[in-house]
Amino acid sequence: MKTIIVGGVAGGASCAARLRRLDESAEILIVERGPYVSYANCGLPYHVGGVIEKESSLLVASPEMFRGFFAVEVRTGCEAIRISPDKKTVELRDVATGAVTTEPYDKLVLSPGARSIRPPLPGIDLPGIFQLRTVPDARAIREWIEKGSEFLAGMYRYSGFQTVRPKTRAVVVGGGFIGVETAENLIHRGFEVTLVEMADQVLAPLDAEMARVVEGYLERHGVKLALKDGVAAFEKGDGGALRVRTQSGKVYPADVVILALGVRPDTELARSAGLAIGERGGIRVDDQMRTSDPNIFAVGDAVEVKDVVTGEASLVALAGPANRQGRIAADVIAGRSSRFRGTQGTAIIGVFAAAAAWTGVNEKTLKRRGDSDYEKIYLYPNSHAGYYPGARPIAIKVIFRKSDGRLLGAQGLGEDGVDKRISTIAMAIQMGATVYDLEEAELCYAPQFGSAKDPVNFAGMVAAGVLRNDMPVSHWDRVDGALLLDVRGAQELAVESVPGAINIPLPQLRARLGELPRDREILTICRSGGRAYFAARILQQNGFKARVLSGGMLSRTYFQLLES
Ligand SMILES: Cc1cc2nc3c(=O)[nH]c(=O)nc-3n(C[C@H](O)[C@H](O)[C@H](O)COP(=O)(O)OP(=O)(O)OC[C@H]3O[C@@H](n4cnc5c(N)ncnc54)[C@H](O)[C@@H]3O)c2cc1C
Repeated sequence: MKTIIVGGVAGGASCAARLRRLDESAEILIVERGPYVSYANCGLPYHVGGVIEKESSLLVASPEMFRGFFAVEVRTGCEAIRISPDKKTVELRDVATGAVTTEPYDKLVLSPGARSIRPPLPGIDLPGIFQLRTVPDARAIREWIEKGSEFLAGMYRYSGFQTVRPKTRAVVVGGGFIGVETAENLIHRGFEVTLVEMADQVLAPLDAEMARVVEGYLERHGVKLALKDGVAAFEKGDGGALRVRTQSGKVYPADVVILALGVRPDTELARSAGLAIGERGGIRVDDQMRTSDPNIFAVGDAVEVKDVVTGEASLVALAGPANRQGRIAADVIAGRSSRFRGTQGTAIIGVFAAAAAWTGVNEKTLKRRGDSDYEKIYLYPNSHAGYYPGARPIAIKVIFRKSDGRLLGAQGLGEDGVDKRISTIAMAIQMGATVYDLEEAELCYAPQFGSAKDPVNFAGMVAAGVLRNDMPVSHWDRVDGALLLDVRGAQELAVESVPGAINIPLPQLRARLGELPRDREILTICRSGGRAYFAARILQQNGFKARVLSGGMLSRTYFQLLES
């Protein structure tokens, strides 16, 4: 049985290695258009930034290794240009010589990835404008930003004629994860960075109030943000520099421009072979990664898969799903019955010293779908026991079904412990778990790692409290008509108070219930929600209608940022 795999990076390479492990007799050929297979594209922004200094560190496996370890033939610089599904052949073009050969296959696996979006804007081909998708892309960026710097390097440290460091200005276009990572890395290299984004927020999978916090963090670390403003044109500026003109008429001078406008599934080969394309523009596959032709499989960024939460067709360009899908295609080719469960878009991004992570559906998607059977909570637990040095708060938003408590999505921000909390909730979502399951989850604990009541348990307890009506919640965008009762102490109020709220510190509440109306809903407020919960319990048990303002003053900051 001969299997040809088109594309030798995440999905393709994992498919080849798995297939060999399952079938010693299989003939396996990887064809890869570029010069490398199995390289770490996820590390590219950090190579640009110099965190991963050596290019060779990005090359996870070489063609020689594939041959030696896996007896897999690898042809780099070799492009698949045409598939003939009826003859079961694929035409291959040698990129260097242009020579075309025809190879027969029994099974074909397409893992061609995605193409960077490159709109036909005036000046987009000017020198100094780059995208970041491959090792040669990263090399080109590094060469461009380092050019001339050998002579000038260090000169600004000396007194004398050359006292000013040459200006290095970068414009990153696009606020997705590649744009944000690249912006951070260029800051590390000493650039003045402006990030231009057409949408009104960075990191689209986050809900806007969570994205605002990331934006504030980026700005605090020196990234200038130009949101709600698309690029209109690129122009030549003075002294070999570029000018980035936006739709609002602003002009940003730049010595380098990085385009990070997102990706589109690379479906060219699949379309020309007559394979079915899905509603979102990816190659249509079943849950065994089979395309509309039973002998052709497709995996990775090029395919459209089912979202486990919404059931909608979804395009998710992430390394985890690509690797798992490559494995599943290999399993099926080798006669096993593996199935892809679907995707939920679990992702994390480092933002300077912090991380933002998310999984499952966000609130804006639920609103777009007209789905109102959900509730959300905000909480700010410490990453580990507060008494052990180094604990940092994590901002967590959890979205769950009002009707049955099923977990729908979560977003987390913080400087410590975000990854394991969102990963745990991701697994829970995949297993169809509820907030009640999070309450019961038994997780690792020692003071330097977590708390006896881990943030994940805590999220479950708070959400379950909402559903059991022990702790009805409201949110800062829904306060109209209610009485706001702030139960914080005087010192905290001196720092920040809520206009119109009355203040009864929690320890005085039982004695001062007579001051509160029984015919009006009362929303209780504290710093992050804990004392407000105690207050709401006191009020409820004394016949008042009370709700907790979820996340307290910390959430208020988020919603205020949203309004501003
Ligand atoms: C800068 C960057 C940072 C990233 N960071 C992360 C991250 O932190 N976390 C994460 O989960 N994901 C990240 N990703 C996304 C992740 O790398 C992709 O989702 C994953 O690589 C997709 O795997 P794939 O096999 O579908 O495609 P790719 O890994 O892109 O491989 C496709 C390969 O197919 C080749 N090819 C295409 N057409 C042909 C043809 N006709 N003939 C021969 N060869 C062909 C291409 O040259 C390419 O090398 C990042 C991506 C980039 C670019």
